[in-house]
Amino acid sequence: MTTNDLPETFLSKLKSTVAKNAFFSDPSDCYAYGYDNSKQHQLPHAVVLPDNTEQVQQIVKLCNEAQVALTTRGRGTGTAGGSVPLRHGVVLSTENMAEIISIDPDNRVATVQPGVLNQSLQDALASHKLFWAPDPTSAAFCSIGGNLAVNSAGPRAVKYGTTRDNVLGLSAVIGSGHLIKTGVFTTKGVVGYDLTRLLVGSEGTLAIITEANLKLLPLPDKKATLQIFYKDIESATLAITNIMAQPVSPCALEFIDSACLDIIRQYSDISLPADARALLMVDVDGNDETIKTAIHSITPALKNNGMVELNTAETEADSEKIWKVRKALSPALRNIAPKKINEDVVVPVSRIPELIAGLEKISQQYQIPIVNFGHAGNGNIHTNLLLDETNTVQKNNAHDCLSAVFELVLDLNGTLSGEHGVGMEKRDYVGREIDDTTLDLMRSIKAQFDPNNILNPDKMFPLLK
Ligand SMILES: Cc1cc2nc3c(=O)[nH]c(=O)nc-3n(C[C@H](O)[C@H](O)[C@H](O)COP(=O)(O)OP(=O)(O)OC[C@H]3O[C@@H](n4cnc5c(N)ncnc54)[C@H](O)[C@@H]3O)c2cc1C
Repeated sequence: MTTNDLPETFLSKLKSTVAKNAFFSDPSDCYAYGYDNSKQHQLPHAVVLPDNTEQVQQIVKLCNEAQVALTTRGRGTGTAGGSVPLRHGVVLSTENMAEIISIDPDNRVATVQPGVLNQSLQDALASHKLFWAPDPTSAAFCSIGGNLAVNSAGPRAVKYGTTRDNVLGLSAVIGSGHLIKTGVFTTKGVVGYDLTRLLVGSEGTLAIITEANLKLLPLPDKKATLQIFYKDIESATLAITNIMAQPVSPCALEFIDSACLDIIRQYSDISLPADARALLMVDVDGNDETIKTAIHSITPALKNNGMVELNTAETEADSEKIWKVRKALSPALRNIAPKKINEDVVVPVSRIPELIAGLEKISQQYQIPIVNFGHAGNGNIHTNLLLDETNTVQKNNAHDCLSAVFELVLDLNGTLSGEHGVGMEKRDYVGREIDDTTLDLMRSIKAQFDPNNILNPDKMFPLLK
């Protein structure tokens, strides 16, 4: 249903489901709940901030009866437009559901409400010498519910996996307003279908997650960082495949290409070796002894004829200096190209060289600068099309250029998104990766969970004509 106006009777029932000051319908109050980091915006007609699962159930039941679109929102840091309420309707923000319900160090499980910020959980776990693996760069601002709904990840995923690998079970409210419980409290369990893995990454289209049992890991004592400059991209990508072929898993393996290094040279005060045309950053974690062993195992894989410089940081302060290079990149890119298109494509690690070579050709063909950096250990490369909106050729070529990038990625057995999700931004390209029969099956799963299509409609899949 397209919701242009919500009847007063519906709004007053909706208002009664939540606490005072947890309901807005004035457009100026609702405005901030209409956008996310995709910069897309759509004004919701009402916003509700429930405190608990029962209130979520009441809200969903009301929306379902009235067939009003309901978009769940964590903190709106998503980059794919996932929390933008495309059909206006109601936005349910989880910001008031921010309780860490329990931390159980004996069983290495934490139970949390979805509005807890990733960093708040990490801070609480640190005193138990534990951590939760997902580490998006946005940790300080993004919610666990958002992490779960998008299957977020960060540099640590190369060793510890993504959100999906670090969840034991969920409580969630489906489109009818009924509560379902998925998964287990244990690290093993095979009873029933694995609905936990289905809900993780479903971007709020199947159910609203109201509680999560998260799998915790022991916090390593320390980490060390290796910074390696190469004279060309081929030498860096050779090192990436060699690192992944040796037995020690780094806890981060990040890559920065030549164009990005030039941007860092130009827009920051960081000094880099003049002949460096690619950079790898490798983190290893553990205790003194295991770190020494890890460095010993990884170093030969880094070395080849194209290596220009190798620096090792064994203190936190030195490691931070190395990571400053990577962190300088996003603000610099935003400065140069505020309208840049940022994709997070993934290819098998061994095909990164073909990806980078292919992207160079596409960049030349469409006359749009393309710069690349990212989580090389997972083959997850942030590909940025530095679009200058005042350049007519680039503006006209942007769509075809992006299309060629996706074609290349799929030809290399890759996938269109590694961590940002589909939302509305990549919806129209999904049919290129997933065949019609599989897409139809996915649509019927959505219909089982949400028969009236009220939960985050028009997201994730190409629209049916
Ligand atoms: C500066 C910056 C850096 C970033 N770095 C990374 C990174 O390193 N790795 C990475 O993976 N991402 C990164 N992101 C993207 C973003 O932070 C993540 O996708 C994050 O998980 C979104 O969380 P959120 O709380 O903001 O969710 P939102 O943006 O509010 O929502 C995202 C999606 O989740 C759904 N949703 C939210 N809560 C629930 C719930 N309780 N139940 C069901 N559905 C729900 C929404 O409907 C929407 O579809 C970055 C973003 C920014 C701005």
